[in-house]
Amino acid sequence: MTEAEIAKKYTRIVKTSLGQWVQAMVVKKPMSDTPEITWKGVGRMLPVRALDENVEMARLAVLKDRRFFRLCEKCNEARPASLILDSGACQECVSESKAMA
Ligand SMILES: [Zn+2]
Repeated sequence: MTEAEIAKKYTRIVKTSLGQWVQAMVVKKPMSDTPEITWKGVGRMLPVRALDENVEMARLAVLKDRRFFRLCEKCNEARPASLILDSGACQECVSESKAMA
């Protein structure tokens, strides 16, 4: 995935009357049958009239925020920190290597 695709999949924009807020996906119990997806607001709110490109930049910046995103040691792509497992690899890489074994 490109960074833009990762940002699109794992961050979202919440628009309120006060402004636009970038939120990062947080997955609870990622390896269970019933993972729970929640969203956490990151950083300061963008103005209601923020330009699309500024909103996009804010989303990409969130991918660099170590509180919410980590790099997978295997595919080297940013994933929500909750999807990076103890091995340092992301959930997708882990399930892939399991499928191959
Ligand atoms: Zn990976």
